[in-house]
Amino acid sequence: MSQMKIDFKSIFTANLPADSNETNQVRQVFNACYSYVNPTPTSNPKLIHYSKKVADLIGITEEEANSNEFLEVFSGNKILENSKPFAMCYGGHQFGHWAGQLGDGRAINLFEIEKENSIYTLQLKGAGKTPYSRTADGLAVLRSSIREHLCSEAMFHLGVPTTRSLSLSLSGEQVLRDVLYDGNPAYEKGAIVCRVAPSFIRFGNFEIFSARNDIQNLKLLADYTIKHYYKEIEVEGKEKYIHFFELVANKTLEMIVHWQRVGFVHGVMNTDNMSIHGITIDYGPYGWLEDYDTNWTPNTTDREYKRYRFGNQPEIALWNLYQLANSIYPLVNEAAPFEKVLSNFKDNFEERYFTMMSNKLGFFKTNRKDKKLIIELEQLLQVTETDMTIFFRELSFIKKDYSTGCGISIANNSFYKPNELTKPILKEWEKWFKKYLLRLNEETISDEEKKSKMNRLNPKYVLRNYMAQLAIDAAENEDYSVLNELVELLKKPYDEQPEFEKWYAKRPDWAREKVGCSMLSCSS
Ligand code: AMP
Ligand code: MG
Repeated sequence: MSQMKIDFKSIFTANLPADSNETNQVRQVFNACYSYVNPTPTSNPKLIHYSKKVADLIGITEEEANSNEFLEVFSGNKILENSKPFAMCYGGHQFGHWAGQLGDGRAINLFEIEKENSIYTLQLKGAGKTPYSRTADGLAVLRSSIREHLCSEAMFHLGVPTTRSLSLSLSGEQVLRDVLYDGNPAYEKGAIVCRVAPSFIRFGNFEIFSARNDIQNLKLLADYTIKHYYKEIEVEGKEKYIHFFELVANKTLEMIVHWQRVGFVHGVMNTDNMSIHGITIDYGPYGWLEDYDTNWTPNTTDREYKRYRFGNQPEIALWNLYQLANSIYPLVNEAAPFEKVLSNFKDNFEERYFTMMSNKLGFFKTNRKDKKLIIELEQLLQVTETDMTIFFRELSFIKKDYSTGCGISIANNSFYKPNELTKPILKEWEKWFKKYLLRLNEETISDEEKKSKMNRLNPKYVLRNYMAQLAIDAAENEDYSVLNELVELLKKPYDEQPEFEKWYAKRPDWAREKVGCSMLSCSS
């Protein structure tokens, strides 16, 4: 049996204070960034899928990935000699309210790998209880693990900053979950994902220290994060933390612009789910816009207030950045520099967002008037159910000399209920396409060039909610063919891939109100 040769490091634990208690009992942890805890061994682990790309990134060969040791390590059964797994302590604002200590309740960091000046942290999700598990079991079910594994890789290939997923394994255990929170719990297959990211430090890791007035550890964590992950910061003293905050704000902003570009709705943008690296983290009840609807949220837990709806994501990112600013304020003791960054966020976002949307429409010359055209389009897209992905992808077929009628017939492919288009709505579309075509004619690039540029921004394939559900339904019966097909498909979301054309389709009717497709709970 081949052995894995992993040259791992313990960077986080070597540099930051550990909880002195090493028992695995639920508790409040003070004056520490993490607690040592081992994954719970599993009875009968089975590897369902691993990402060759991620393995390659961290120097794991194909042979190693197919070894039994790989399965044992990444399902939590074997702990590499001299490594010391740990769970992080963090707090967070959940749905707008301070929730106190949360921490890695079902995530366990194994070790870090350093390659070409980058640090990769490997973390198991669903590997058993930790001191932060509170009243929960520390486990994860197959359906949510498939969703995390598939989506993180899909996001990566879309060019959206994200944590990666190395592997997806069945644990062999049964896990009790009440999917709809309606008093009908049932057993489901347990699973474990191994995620990979520079680190899993969240806004909440800083918040917990400031909430407890533990300035010493707050400073240690900030200095650590800057030293290892924000090496471009050269200033010292207060300036250092302000610059750090500014860089986190910029990265977060870029991430949200990408989310809005591809129609991704995170679903639970609590501050404990915001990465300090500005990457998408914690794939729970996320969803993809099918019909364009700024008010849509996939998260049934958030149905009432829709705090985390698609159109509110930029606002919430800013709100979360306010919480991060508050938490690192004690290292600066001046509000003005933070306020400046936060107010810039608003302006910068507007600018970045409208540039991104103009580009999606095929406009590559800047024109201030485009904003109006974009706002009108956003309204029109919601008047009738219009598939976001298909609408923007089809738009690339429009040539400068097309008529408004041609425009409408192209848009027609993306309408869910073309028969319900009333005359007044059609008139609005006509008006819009007339302006659109006039504007297109201001562009100097050729139709061909425009099309290929648009097609790098408007994906043809995204992980539609029902697609993930089909992969899950099959996997529950040990059929991983859909999962494998989606992995392949989503590696090239901007390519035509005619062999996969069946996935370039509007959401089927059966998926409209189905659990797992349009409705997702936090139960995972
Ligand atoms: P989430 O809503 O998934 O971001 O989780 C919020 C908090 O609950 C985090 O501290 C998680 O670690 C914890 N948590 C979620 N699910 C579980 C679980 N099954 N067992 C233990 N802790 C959990
Ligand atoms: Mg979380």
